[in-house]
Amino acid sequence: MSTVLETEEHKALRAAVAALGKRFGRAYTTDLFRDGEHPRELWEEAGKLGYLGVNLPEQYGGGGGGMAELSIVLEELGAAGSPLLMMVVSPAICGTVIARFGTDEQKQAWLPGLSDGSLSMSFGITEPDAGSNSHRITTTARRDGGDWVLTGRKVFISGVDISDATLIVGRTEDARSGNLKPCLFIVPRDTPGFTRTPIDMELQAAEKQFELVLDDVRLPAGALVGEEADTGLLQLFAGLNPERIMGAAFSIGMGRYAVDKAVDYARTRTVWKGAPIGSHQAIAHPLAQAHIELELARLMMQKAARLYDDGDDIGAGEAANMAKYAAAEACVRAVDQAVHTLGGNGLTREYGLASLITAARVSRIAPVSREMILNYVSHQTLGLPKSY
Ligand SMILES: Cc1cc2nc3c(=O)[nH]c(=O)nc-3n(C[C@H](O)[C@H](O)[C@H](O)COP(=O)(O)OP(=O)(O)OC[C@H]3O[C@@H](n4cnc5c(N)ncnc54)[C@H](O)[C@@H]3O)c2cc1C
Repeated sequence: MSTVLETEEHKALRAAVAALGKRFGRAYTTDLFRDGEHPRELWEEAGKLGYLGVNLPEQYGGGGGGMAELSIVLEELGAAGSPLLMMVVSPAICGTVIARFGTDEQKQAWLPGLSDGSLSMSFGITEPDAGSNSHRITTTARRDGGDWVLTGRKVFISGVDISDATLIVGRTEDARSGNLKPCLFIVPRDTPGFTRTPIDMELQAAEKQFELVLDDVRLPAGALVGEEADTGLLQLFAGLNPERIMGAAFSIGMGRYAVDKAVDYARTRTVWKGAPIGSHQAIAHPLAQAHIELELARLMMQKAARLYDDGDDIGAGEAANMAKYAAAEACVRAVDQAVHTLGGNGLTREYGLASLITAARVSRIAPVSREMILNYVSHQTLGLPKSY
């Protein structure tokens, strides 16, 4: 890769994270989900090495970089077969939102821990009756003396059991207009009234998804991220662009892992006189195509990260959506072709690729679905009218 796209520091970071990922590898991840465990050792080690907080401000123990660096970390761990899903949420969404909009107390309380991995946060926006339409969320916060009281439900929230707190997207009434506006609250895991139920997913992953109930959850004034007058969409978008960039990194890493496994297999598997199956173009071309599509998706991810890191939130919004779309599609096709390349072995536990079929499909749905990105590009970029 040319230095125009990545600096020498970026390349060194890629190599160092790849080495860490390789040390843990796919076997580490598959053992975890077999035993119902989560990747504590890898998380702690990545945190100690400064990889988890590489995007967070130096004055709070972070690396002082941005999404360009954080996306490299997640992509390389994924390419080694041991991705850390909670990186999408903890340093990327929550860390960014607190670093950009949090009060001094919130920054001091959370950023050093999010940087070194000793603290982690999950992120809850999705609601059962709102789904893709986040304008419809009904989790509401009302003032009660100096406190906030939060009521609502969330669904599919990842990693709540292993996070110290969840950043909950709710609404408050605007004192001037009376309209409900979005706001973010830090809700510690064991706050009374905040309950979670694991969702039985057909997904082999180390992180679980939860349905959450917030039943009159009483929070101190300092639980609201930032100052009341400043809450709003800007804060939310500050977190959602990094989420999309990291969604792309997750997909590209997984796709690369699958293609690598398939290429290794296709090089040596021989069922006709001396010719490995990789010499047949019906096997070679789709793998070449998958590789090209992943590289293209990475280019768009790098563009999105650059725009975001340069402070262009609007430009980054479009690019991050496109990167997430391209990466998810490339990942789904790469995994499908990888499984196919291994024939029957593609479906065995031993080769461990079939479980990626479900995992790859997640990237088409979360954090924002393929259709909502196509809607965004239709309306925002192409100026076409809305159907809904
Ligand atoms: C593994 C996993 C982890 C997740 N982790 C988190 C998390 O940590 N935090 C969090 O907040 N959420 C999380 N989510 C939720 C995720 O963001 C949502 O599932 C996603 O936004 C889609 O919402 P939905 O499932 O309600 O689907 P729906 O909104 O019900 O959509 C269903 C289908 O209809 C399509 N559709 C909907 N509206 C339109 C439209 N206007 N035009 C065209 N098509 C449309 C969608 O694209 C989709 O294919 C996670 C989900 C999964 C699967």
